[in-house]
Amino acid sequence: MSDAPLPKVVMPSCPNRQLLKGQKALVTGANSGIGRAVAVYLAKEGADVVVNFVADEAAAAEVVTEIQATGRGGLAIQADVSDEAQVQTMFQQMIDAFGTIDILVNNAGLQRDAPFDEMTLAQWQQVIDVNLTGQFLCAREAVREFKRRGVVPEVSCAAGKIISMSSVHEVIPWAGHVNYAASKGGVMLMTKSLAQEVAPFRIRVNSICPGAIRTPINTDAWGTPEAYAELMRLIPYNRIGEPVDIARATAWMASDDADYVQGVSFFVDGGMTLYPGFAEGG
Ligand code: NAD
Repeated sequence: MSDAPLPKVVMPSCPNRQLLKGQKALVTGANSGIGRAVAVYLAKEGADVVVNFVADEAAAAEVVTEIQATGRGGLAIQADVSDEAQVQTMFQQMIDAFGTIDILVNNAGLQRDAPFDEMTLAQWQQVIDVNLTGQFLCAREAVREFKRRGVVPEVSCAAGKIISMSSVHEVIPWAGHVNYAASKGGVMLMTKSLAQEVAPFRIRVNSICPGAIRTPINTDAWGTPEAYAELMRLIPYNRIGEPVDIARATAWMASDDADYVQGVSFFVDGGMTLYPGFAEGG
């Protein structure tokens, strides 16, 4: 960091402004579910968006078409977020195409569920590699670019924003999903520790913690009326979350409206973390 004082913060003042006008965003795992909704929503709020995907290029192309329909730039880039070289190439491709990055949404994630004593090392390792190491690799490239470029006051109060897609399972233990819960617990302290480290550079790092959101990752939990009814026992607000619920929260968290928000886990879960078993006195 140079010794020059940071530029004065310029707060946006137009009430009808787009939250993310003129910003450049990268959303990992953006060809499906939450990532897809986030990518399109960020574009609606004025950002040019890179749609990262590891498989299903056709779905990524559809997301790019939706982004372009909003009038913003969209670009699909294939990369496995758990592969260091592929992540570095993806960031270089983004910077070549868009000039820089202002917002990273570390969304890519997966589950490989098994009872603990049947869990293979491969199942454990893949979940940690994608959900935790993948977030590290992408965040590191983003921080390098944010530090290199610094604050551009006309674009944002911050030098850059990282949103980690975590989960209610960064705090709720989850039997049968020990690898997944461990990865999200790791995301929680990676996010908070990184937020502490890079705050002086005016880089903001926060997590969004979704509850149950209707996406392909958890079809078993909502795909039949019986499963849905069972799920509602865990959700005081009595409806499943939709990807756009997470997209709205992510856009706000990435915007200057959240400029003083640093290192938080923001639960968007219909009350799932409110110990619903105690709703009737425990
Ligand atoms: P999803 O399966 O629809 O999307 C996950 C995306 O990640 C897919 O596009 C997939 O291809 C991508 N991905 C997987 N491995 C990758 C890799 N190595 N490199 C790049 N991309 C990769 O599921 P979703 O529900 O949209 O999940 C998105 C994120 O939200 C995940 O981090 C998940 O843990 C989190 N989350 C989801 C829920 C939920 O209820 N759906 C709840 C809490 C947290």
